[in-house]
Amino acid sequence: MNVEEFRKHGKALIDFIADYSANIEKIDVLPNVEPGFLSPLIPDEIPHDPESFENIMKDVSEKIMPGFTHEHHPKYFAYYTSGVSFPGTLGDILTSGLSVGVFNWINCPAGTELENIVLDWFAKALGLPTHFISDSPGSVGGGVLQNSASECILISLLIARAHVIEQLKGDSDLHDSVFLPKLVAYTSEDAHYSMEKAAKMSLTRIRLIKTDSRGKMRVDLFKEAVLNDINNGLIPFFVMATLGTTGSAAYDNVYEIGKFSKTISHMWFHIDGAYGANAFILPEMRRFGEGMEYADSMNVNACKMLLVNFESSAMWVKDVMIMKKALSAHPVYLQHDNENKVSAIDYRNS
Ligand SMILES: *Cc1c(COP(=O)(O)O)cnc(C)c1O
Repeated sequence: MNVEEFRKHGKALIDFIADYSANIEKIDVLPNVEPGFLSPLIPDEIPHDPESFENIMKDVSEKIMPGFTHEHHPKYFAYYTSGVSFPGTLGDILTSGLSVGVFNWINCPAGTELENIVLDWFAKALGLPTHFISDSPGSVGGGVLQNSASECILISLLIARAHVIEQLKGDSDLHDSVFLPKLVAYTSEDAHYSMEKAAKMSLTRIRLIKTDSRGKMRVDLFKEAVLNDINNGLIPFFVMATLGTTGSAAYDNVYEIGKFSKTISHMWFHIDGAYGANAFILPEMRRFGEGMEYADSMNVNACKMLLVNFESSAMWVKDVMIMKKALSAHPVYLQHDNENKVSAIDYRNS
């Protein structure tokens, strides 16, 4: 495809998306297909010769679209409404077309700095604690975009794990894994399944604390579990509270969980606000987040309420250096002249 063909087909593609959006109400939300429907419609091998754009779009209309569940249909009430908006789509097309790779400051200084600025904006717009806002006086924290909330949760757990192990290890030359059997993480039984998955992936022992009749974590049982574990020689090191649980949109008592967690040495407090923390865009909703200032890290999915296209997962940490220490590697091919400057963020380290 040459540049003139791209110009032409790109405009046709925008028309295709616009027509789809304009007519979405007329189609059924769920597709009428059985598992395995697609394979007989598609060649077994990758095509040897290029196909015309028109032919490809014909296949998209006739073979692919009939297998779609239309997530931003007005009658789609499953899971979450998917954030899709025309400005969001245009933004996606722009970043894709410009090939923005924000892993190293030098690879895209403007993309890197814009990510930082927008994450500060977003934190301010939600009324998050100032320690998450990089341009706030005295702050050593900041934000990063991840691929999903599940990834934010896994990464938070890994940072907390690296941090506690570093402290336990001190000057000894024991291997990090020696400390693993002692570590315990906590969340509620109604927390998103990705927390359990993160614990599996990181070989971390996890306690799923029972919830009350409103779906909130029972803080009394959480405290009991932590104290019990300490008495048994274990080391509680991570707790995750949820603002807006996936099952029932319950807001955990962040204030009580956070306050208690700060009395336990080594305890990292993460808030999964993937769904419900978006509501803090309305100042009158922020009372549900009282106690967020105790958090060491937090994540919010703008695509769940705020018309940003799927997927957009923001994550903030209170201390960027702890994150960097846990996740950095320094191969020679990624080094650059400005890497030691505070304002030259290398997002690959987060
Ligand atoms: C949706 C959701 C997640 C997972 O989000 P992904 O971005 O799909 O990984 C995690 N926690 C809560 C509370 C959620 O609502």
